[in-house]
Amino acid sequence: MRWPTEPATAVCRRPSSTLTDKEFLVNLDLAVLDAYRGLTGTEPEGIWRAPGRINLIGEHTDYNDGFVLPFALPQAAYLAAGRRGDGRIRIVSVDLGETVEYALAELSPGNAGWHSYLAGVFWAMREAGHTVGGADLALASDVPIGAGLSSSAAIECVLVSALNDLYDLGIEPMQRAKLARVTENAYVGAPTGLMDQAASTLCEEGRALFLDCRSLEVEQVPFDPAAHGYAVLVVDTLTRHSHADGEYATRRADCERAAELLGVPALRDVSVEGLDERLEALGDERLVRRARHVVTEDARVLEACTALREDDFRALGELMTASHASMRADYEITEASVDLTVEVALAQGAAGARMTGGGFGGCVLVLAETGQLDAIGTEVTAAFTDSGRKAPPLFVARPAAGAGRLT
Ligand code: ADP
Ligand code: MG
Repeated sequence: MRWPTEPATAVCRRPSSTLTDKEFLVNLDLAVLDAYRGLTGTEPEGIWRAPGRINLIGEHTDYNDGFVLPFALPQAAYLAAGRRGDGRIRIVSVDLGETVEYALAELSPGNAGWHSYLAGVFWAMREAGHTVGGADLALASDVPIGAGLSSSAAIECVLVSALNDLYDLGIEPMQRAKLARVTENAYVGAPTGLMDQAASTLCEEGRALFLDCRSLEVEQVPFDPAAHGYAVLVVDTLTRHSHADGEYATRRADCERAAELLGVPALRDVSVEGLDERLEALGDERLVRRARHVVTEDARVLEACTALREDDFRALGELMTASHASMRADYEITEASVDLTVEVALAQGAAGARMTGGGFGGCVLVLAETGQLDAIGTEVTAAFTDSGRKAPPLFVARPAAGAGRLT
């Protein structure tokens, strides 16, 4: 697994990402091609790519029927693939150096291991009635695993894309994202929303993807910071919270309770106008804060879309910082290392900064003028090492394209 960990000076020299797109393509293209040849002794029918993603704004809104605004990363999963006529699947992971083999007929939910994210795609597509046969697959990815950048959706979506093309299925993009989600929910057994797979499948270069988690309506919102002298720096705090699952469950339960007490199907149905008076009805200080985060965060996503349509990066930055403050004080899902990152980035003149992802660690997004990245990266790194933490991996995230065929 390659994880760009260059210092901030290098980030600034190559502002589109820590590795150029060409290097990404050449490296992983060749890696999966070689691995496929090694596996089969033949050429693949094609090579596909599907990216990881990061959420620009809209945290813990998805399960409240609300809004999210992710964009796709240059980091992606690459898959060389070819059909087989004997109902068997062979998969080699370049990153793990492992090969597995399955018979299509023996696929069943609950299989463990990295390959279940791929085997499950065959299962989900066949369950949905699509005519999918066997395949040989070689996989490599530079989406870091477990950093909240959705390495799992990248590998699911790259395979859905490949099988859709190879078996000429003509499945619409949102439907493809749903199949990838069924894989993760029903086959792997991870209860996730649709955001990751929708972003990996539907995102477009230079755009963020607005997703209404209730209607599943999407909008491609222009988002090209580099064209306006800005960049998004991603700081991986390396903090991973072991209690995150339990905290997630209690937040979710609080939201359901608050919606019930307010007499609405979901917190998405509560307006920000007159919010404080309306929330008094909850009669519970914690529920008030939880609901206030969700309702104001939905409003911030909509305002962020407006800011992006107007290329107003200052306004976007302020919304990001307000989102972080809300996650910190009202939703209580931040922790010391993400708060430190945000604080130092803002002190260095960033336009905005916020934790992204489920919480209790993970990555921070910093929006800043390109010329300020170096100082921000240097100061954040110094703040980490001075406080006895490991230097955080940094990279610049350029909004990239969603899943598709390369060759
Ligand atoms: P993330 O936030 O990165 O999506 P998940 O726990 O949801 O974290 O998914 C990570 C899992 O996806 C890994 O443990 C592994 O099983 C699988 N995975 C991701 N990338 C790869 C890869 N390049 N090769 C093999 N398996 C991978
Ligand atoms: Mg995942």
